[in-house]
Amino acid sequence: MLRINPLIRITLGLVSVTLILVLAGDYVLQLTRDQSGVDFRQREKIGKTLALQFSPLAEINDTETIGKAMEALVERNRDVMSTALRGSDGKVITAAGAHEQYWKSPGAGVTTVTHADVPLMVDGREWGTVEVSFASGRGGLIPFLPTDPLFRFLLFITASACFGYFFFMKRTLTHLDPKAVIPDKVKSTLDLLAEGVILTDTKDNIVLANLSFADKLGVEPGILIGKPLSALKWRSPGSNDAIEQLPWITAMKDGKAQTDFPLSLTLEEDKVLVFAANSSPILDSNFNLRGAMATFNDETALQEANGVLLEMMDKLRKSQDEVNKQNTELKRLATRDPMTNCLNRRSFFERMDKAFTLAQSEKSAMGCVMVDIDHFKKINDEHGHGIGDKVLKMVAKLLESKFGNKDSICRYGGEEFCIMMPGTGLDQAIEVAQEVRATIESYATMGIETSGNLTVTASLGVSAIEQGATSPSMLVDQADKALYQAKEQGRNRVEQWSKALSDNRAA
Ligand code: GH3
Ligand code: MG
Ligand code: MG
Repeated sequence: MLRINPLIRITLGLVSVTLILVLAGDYVLQLTRDQSGVDFRQREKIGKTLALQFSPLAEINDTETIGKAMEALVERNRDVMSTALRGSDGKVITAAGAHEQYWKSPGAGVTTVTHADVPLMVDGREWGTVEVSFASGRGGLIPFLPTDPLFRFLLFITASACFGYFFFMKRTLTHLDPKAVIPDKVKSTLDLLAEGVILTDTKDNIVLANLSFADKLGVEPGILIGKPLSALKWRSPGSNDAIEQLPWITAMKDGKAQTDFPLSLTLEEDKVLVFAANSSPILDSNFNLRGAMATFNDETALQEANGVLLEMMDKLRKSQDEVNKQNTELKRLATRDPMTNCLNRRSFFERMDKAFTLAQSEKSAMGCVMVDIDHFKKINDEHGHGIGDKVLKMVAKLLESKFGNKDSICRYGGEEFCIMMPGTGLDQAIEVAQEVRATIESYATMGIETSGNLTVTASLGVSAIEQGATSPSMLVDQADKALYQAKEQGRNRVEQWSKALSDNRAA
């Protein structure tokens, strides 16, 4: 089907209406007819014919017959309002119709559209005059209107144009305003939907917005009509960048439905709505594109709830982290000495039991070293407990660096440490013990600043599983005995356990 541009259709329509009005005007007002031509000649003819017909009657002075003929003429011819026969003396001899009322002399022998003054000749001389008054208004169908043709024309066009253009424009606007062709039932049904629904034309202009969509924007649906749908502040949720191609534009371009397109819409008061948008192209019966339909599922509340949930989960994770941290700390406090971070006796023996059993089953080596700071009481006495604490911490640190494993060092007593050495035999254990003793001695003040003279030394006792210990406590006890020996031998030295040594002590 040939599609004519709407502008051309309107133009042709207006031209048609105008032509119809002019033709109707002509029919009603007879404006285009020759007023002063055809009619005037007819009227002039009437005047002359009367004068000719009356001439023989005038010759025999039969004015009565003339009078009757005049009466008959006025009666039959609606155009003739009155007529009279006037004598040469200027007096009316006979008349028909209200001649005095209608007659207005156009001048002797002159005929106009409304009046005819025709001389009545008898034997070549003027006997009198035949006067005819014609209907002045050529009323057509509206004889009561003023006679000015232009006035009548303008009046008619104005009145009829009001009706003609009104009905034509009403029809035209219905075509131009697609929303007007959407039946009210359809509109009210769309208004019942909780989903926002928008219909656009091919140029992205909104032709229908349902109540739900307008409500979300806080406007009347009518405000949105005619506005481009893409001109609203659409964004990708969580982003401030404009979207390259909105789903209804894609739907119209590709001719395919778009589903679950995530969109956010920023409103004036910085309120942001989040939608899942679906869109499909609208085609007419000939599959020509007429626009797009877009539906908007409001997911703002869901998003907000998601946000709250994520926030809560984050809080929960943080508090979980905190709990874990506190658990670790509790575990540390339960297994370690808070000042030196060395294992406490209970957890040391737990580990030592396992290591000892393993060493026994694998028949592998395992050494044990007992360390005691010399004259520590004196250090406390001379420098104060604070300095004593610092010395303890420094010795613990040094032990950790020398034995290389903080999970094998135990704060056994006040200034006494016990170290297990899985996989290390007696000789190697003595070697490490010597090294530790020498390092403590060489550190002297352990890097601690004091007012007085601070010297730190330690005595060490060494034992090893290869010497016959059958339990962890026995191994520790042997190292302790060796330590006692070192103290006895003058301190700041390393002694190893031997059976003889035990026997001596027992004796
Ligand atoms: P020896 O050479 O025979 O080992 O003599 P010592 O003075 O080191 O041994 P003694 O057992 O007589 O004294 C140990 C001192 O260690 C007594 C106690 O006040 C002190 N001590 C124990 N625990 C702590 C502690 O955590 N901090 C401080 N500053 N001193 C402690
Ligand atoms: Mg001591
Ligand atoms: Mg001691």
